[in-house]
Amino acid sequence: MIDPAPHTHLDSIRTRIAAAARIARRKPEDVTLIAISKTHPAETIAPLIAAGQRVFGENRVQEAQAKWPELIANAPDIRLHLVGQLQSNKADDAVALFDCIHSLDRPSLVTALARAMDKTGRQVPCFVQVNIGDEPQKGGCTIADLPVFIAQARAAGIPLAGLMCVPPAGIESAPFFALLGKLADDNGVAAGLSMGMSDDFETAIMLGATHVRVGSALFGARAPL
Ligand SMILES: *Cc1c(COP(=O)(O)O)cnc(C)c1O
Repeated sequence: MIDPAPHTHLDSIRTRIAAAARIARRKPEDVTLIAISKTHPAETIAPLIAAGQRVFGENRVQEAQAKWPELIANAPDIRLHLVGQLQSNKADDAVALFDCIHSLDRPSLVTALARAMDKTGRQVPCFVQVNIGDEPQKGGCTIADLPVFIAQARAAGIPLAGLMCVPPAGIESAPFFALLGKLADDNGVAAGLSMGMSDDFETAIMLGATHVRVGSALFGARAPL
């Protein structure tokens, strides 16, 4: 079902983000809300833009290419983040469209993104995605490989924004958020932590999230794929 008034959810999400930040003695403006608009059509997204939301996230390059150029033409200060797995052969398209990539997770993608950034001269900050629950079906660099992988990304000249994770479903996510923060400290990429979704973004903020990725709490439930 399409939610008739996603902007009313926006106010409440912003209030909850600010409250969580205050409890953690952080500044609300140090937490970026990424509105995850995957599967939702432009008509559903437009009210959020009208309400002042400027940072959006998509998980498929092709879907974003179809939806966003027109929306961005009307609001050029929109920033678009890619939060889904990226195939190396889409690296050029991703670098051209997105302002930030949250799914850098393997050496072949480092190579492809570094080449795309060289070619276009566009430097797109990337979060290294960590497979924080060691789940075989999920993307992300393993914790064991993380130090070497970060060194590879740095050597290739990729601008690193920090670390990102999607914890295992159905169990408490706080320990995984805490672990991601520790890994960021240990590896000297403490700048950003992309963690927290509709069900756990307040917990993530208390544990240091700088970017929360909120979809269904803003837009309502997505239609099944
Ligand atoms: C879909 C998605 C989200 C948003 O999930 P909600 O539970 O709808 O808030 C966040 N991060 C990633 C990587 C996603 O794919």
